[in-house]
Formats: sequence, C-alpha cells, structure tokens
Amino acid sequence: MQQLSHWIDGLPQAPSGGEWLEVHDPASGRPHARVASGTAQDVETAVAAASAAFPLWSGLANDERARWLERLADALEAKLDLFAQSEARDGGKPIRLAREVEIPRAIANLRFFAHAATQFASESHHGQAGLNYTLRQALGVVGTISPWNLPLYLFTWKIAPALAAGNTVVAKPSEVTPLTATMLGELAAEIGFPAGVLNIVHGMGPEVGEAIVTHPAIRAISFTGSTVVGKRIAGLAAPLLKKVSLELGGKNATLVFADSDWQAQLDTLVRSAFQNSGQICLCGSRILVERTILVEFREAFVDRVRTLRIGDPIDTDTELGPLASQTHFDKVMAALQRARDEGGQVLCGGNALDRPGWFVEPTLLEGLGPDCASNREEIFGPVATLQPFDDEDHALRLANAVDYGLAASVWTRDLDRAHRLAAALRVGIVWINSWLMRDLRTPFGGVGQSGLGREGGFEAMRFFTEPKNVGIALR
Ligand code: NAP
Repeated sequence: MQQLSHWIDGLPQAPSGGEWLEVHDPASGRPHARVASGTAQDVETAVAAASAAFPLWSGLANDERARWLERLADALEAKLDLFAQSEARDGGKPIRLAREVEIPRAIANLRFFAHAATQFASESHHGQAGLNYTLRQALGVVGTISPWNLPLYLFTWKIAPALAAGNTVVAKPSEVTPLTATMLGELAAEIGFPAGVLNIVHGMGPEVGEAIVTHPAIRAISFTGSTVVGKRIAGLAAPLLKKVSLELGGKNATLVFADSDWQAQLDTLVRSAFQNSGQICLCGSRILVERTILVEFREAFVDRVRTLRIGDPIDTDTELGPLASQTHFDKVMAALQRARDEGGQVLCGGNALDRPGWFVEPTLLEGLGPDCASNREEIFGPVATLQPFDDEDHALRLANAVDYGLAASVWTRDLDRAHRLAAALRVGIVWINSWLMRDLRTPFGGVGQSGLGREGGFEAMRFFTEPKNVGIALR
C-alpha cells in the first residue's frame, strides 16, 4: 500500500509520532494508501524549515519566484494524467472532470500567480501631505488548510499566491484526499524547488490544523472548509490577532425565470446542481423556478438527471462518482432522511446505490418550504430542492432566505432584472445565464456564514502581504 509522508524541508518525512491513517478509495470503500498522522511536533519542524527558508525566498526578485512557480506548473502539466488518475482514485472524482477541469485548473493557478508576482504593484499618494508610498511586504510563514472536495485545485489556489507574494508555507491538505498534494511535494523536490519554501504536513484537523492556526510564528491562515470549522479557526486566531481568510460553506440558489433560455441551458443547470456529486461549494442546491414553467421545467430537468451516468470514477464515461468518504456518505444519507421527515417528495433519486463504495443517486426534492432544514443547511451532496416563485420579489426573498451567502445564478433574458437581482442578492458571487464561469482575477468569496475575506487575483496578493506606508516630507 502506498505510504504518503509529510514533505518538510524538501524531503519526505515520517510522522514524528509514528502513526499513520488509512486513506480509502471511495469507489470501493477499501483502503488504498496510508498517510502520515501528523502532530504539533511535525508542525513545529515544518515551521522551523519555513522560517529558515523565508529570507532567501522573500529576497528573490519577483520574476525569479515567478519562474519557480512556472517550473512547478510545467512539471505538473507533464504528469497531468497521472495526477488526474490519482485524484479520481483518492476522492472518487470522475476522471474526465479531473483531467479536463481540475488538474488543468491547478496548473492554471500556479501560472496565474506566477504572472501576478510580476504584475502586483503598490500605491503612492501625493498632493496632501508630502509623498507617501506603500510597501507590500511578504508576511513570513503562512498556513493554508484545504478540504477534500477539490483537493489539488484548492491546495494550489492557496499556496500559489502565498508563494508568489514571497511567503513560505506550511500547508495541510485534507487527510481524506492527501494523495495529489503529496505528489506535488515530491514534484517540487524533483525540480529542485528551494527546500523549506513549501512544506506539507498531513493529519487530522483538530491536531495538525489547530497546531498551524495557533503557532505563533505563522502569520496568517488561509482556510477553505466548513462553516463550523471556519468559526473554530476564527475563535482560535482572534486572541492572537492573526490574519485569517475563511472560505466556507454555501446553500446557493439558482433562479430560473420563464423568459430564460432554460431549455437550451438544461445541461448547465443540471451540472450546476450535481457536478462532482454536488460536492462543490458553488453548486446550486436550491433551484427556484417561476411558477408558470414549473411543470415543464420539472419534467425536463428530472428526465435529464435520470440520464446522468453514475459509476466508477476511473471510467471516462462516468459523469457522477461516489461521495468522498464514509462519514460524508452518512451525513448525506441522514440529510435525505431528514428531507423525507420534513415532508419532501422525492422526484428522482433518493437512495444509495446497491454496490460497494459511497454512491448516492442524484436527487431532486420538492414540497419543502424555505424554513425547512433541507433548504437552510448545506448538504454538500447530489441533493437539490425545487421551489416555485411567483415574481421577482418572491424569487429574491427565497434566494436570500438563508444564513449562507456564497453564490447564486440568475437565468433570464431581461437585462434590467438581471442587474437588479445581481445587486440585491446577498452573496459574494453572481452568475447571469451561466454557472462556474471563472476569471481568476475576480474576487472570490462569500458573505454571512459563507466566510470572511476574498481570494483571487490581487485580493489574494493583498491578503498575503502587509502594507506599510512610508511618508516623505517634501520641502
Ligand atoms: P472541513 O471539515 O471544515 O475541513 C476542511 C479542512 O480543515 C480539512 O483539511 C480539515 O482536516 C481541516 N480541519 C478540520 N478541523 C479543523 C480544526 N479544528 N482546525 C483546523 N483545521 C481543521 O471541511 P470539509 O468537509 O473538508 O469540506 C467541505 C466544506 O468545505 C463544505 O462546507 C464546503 O462548502 C466547503 N468549501 C468551501 C469552499 C469555498 O470556496 N467557499 C470551497 C470548497 C469547499 P481533516 O480533513 O483532517 O478533517
């Protein structure tokens, strides 16, 4: 069985406590690897390596750091297929999604922030009180903590801007899907990436994650994961006055108006609910449909969902794979039971597949009001609800009737309405007649229970730097 070590100071390192955790293949439920179960001692070792590497790394010219990120991107691109296969096995992700979207996006993250390193600039102010200019300096050692749903995509989304801005990193991937981050650590060592700049410590959140969050030498934490853990991290970081960026859960609405081109966009609408088996924070799990098209929409949508091919993630025809872990499978099955208890009618799906692994049918529910837990709490699985609305105001009230505020998509041909809703929806991201259309320069993040701060483009570069104003008297 494959053994996944930490990568600290450019070398594979066994866990100091000698403990390993089993990593499971979600398509069979069987263990396929063992990963280091890290401790606070391992975090200490990684912080020491990152601290020692910081002067050299932050002292490199921006374009030299950019070249290192480009080299890592090139090396990853050369092994794209291997990484895609590993992601499919580790997280149950359909191989096509990994090969065509997620690993290419991880490569794009590295390249994008390589460019950002050379383009990022700071401000100057004059004409009021002398001449002022702003230095934007690297913070030092920073911590990144990422989830299992988009393992390498989100891991690189954090480490790339941190490194581009001149920081050194202690990164913790999810212990559920540690394979591709480990492979990236190995790749970095292979290409001679400066040792200690990127350190990867595996292990459980409460042990390794909290040791990273509370370590006094770690200057900032970039976290993506659940709202519950995000709040815990905010609580731990607050007394230390540590900078945090929190990208948390969502309960996103998809607003479909009668005047939209919904028939032509049906594939995208279905994808927006069920891509990666609904295990994407941006999935639209509450589908709001104008009442005049409800019957027609419901029938067409359910028919399309029934054609989704569920199966072995390694099969190129597979559109939906299993859920990532036994724990998550249990959570989604409990949410389905709760939906039934709340009076929800199952329009399609509703059950686990009768086969090994953690497969759940794509499920559409109806008859649940906005106050039901099924419409308020994140399920993060292949489960969406359908609610009718009467007019634009009603649609907006339903869309905003949750504590989360990550994303929404609006489907209409009425330009005025699209802009009105874009301004009124309480979310961080709105798509009009599209879903998951991403320009990496745009601010990314949510409001309310969906998080604090923004990632993406120069927002991320600003998060990972400290501004310092220098004022010069002009005589
Ligand atoms: P999670 O349980 O919050 O875990 C996320 C990461 O935090 C994992 O690496 C986890 O380690 C670690 N962790 C757990 N407890 C911790 C603690 N006490 N201190 C520090 N770190 C800790 O979330 P998940 O189940 O992996 O991911 C699904 C969630 O992520 C969903 O809510 C989804 O909406 C959200 N998400 C948000 C975005 C966004 O951009 N807004 C993107 C993707 C996912 P272990 O794996 O060892 O527990």
